[in-house]
Amino acid sequence: MSDCIFCQIVAGDIPSRTVYEDDTVLAFLDANPLARGHTLVIPKSHHETLGELPSDIGSDVFAALHELTPAVEAAVDADGSTVAFNNGEEAGQEVPHVHGHIVPRFAGDGGRPIHSLFGSRPDLSEDELDDIAAAIEDGA
Ligand code: 5GP
Ligand code: ZN
Repeated sequence: MSDCIFCQIVAGDIPSRTVYEDDTVLAFLDANPLARGHTLVIPKSHHETLGELPSDIGSDVFAALHELTPAVEAAVDADGSTVAFNNGEEAGQEVPHVHGHIVPRFAGDGGRPIHSLFGSRPDLSEDELDDIAAAIEDGA
């Protein structure tokens, strides 16, 4: 996609600080990092969300996340990391090319867990939980 920033990075038209590359995956430092070492992991092919990613490429992206997360943590001497996808515009995804964030975390960094994204939690009955679980199982 010629108007996609991340496709332009893959093509080499926009520079990036690349930290990993293989046939299907690219990883590079985030240009506006939330923490030292904030890294983005993307498929080289253009897909907007996780659900649109072919499963073999999804596996490749996860394998890269698995390999890179400890490497990113070690590079900046982090105590842990938050690994997350903003999946879809309503979830805060600004670049419509699927990407995983590896955000190094440090003791006392003031960051919060992903649970803090939500101010309240839905009050779901046992029946509703059963129905939701069944619907997810059917769709997987
Ligand atoms: P999103 O909100 O879509 O999950 O995150 C997009 C991320 O891409 C942001 O953290 C932003 O800083 C990063 N970003 C946007 N444009 C560029 C760019 O041109 N180069 C790099 N390296 N990162 C970018
Ligand atoms: Zn793209």
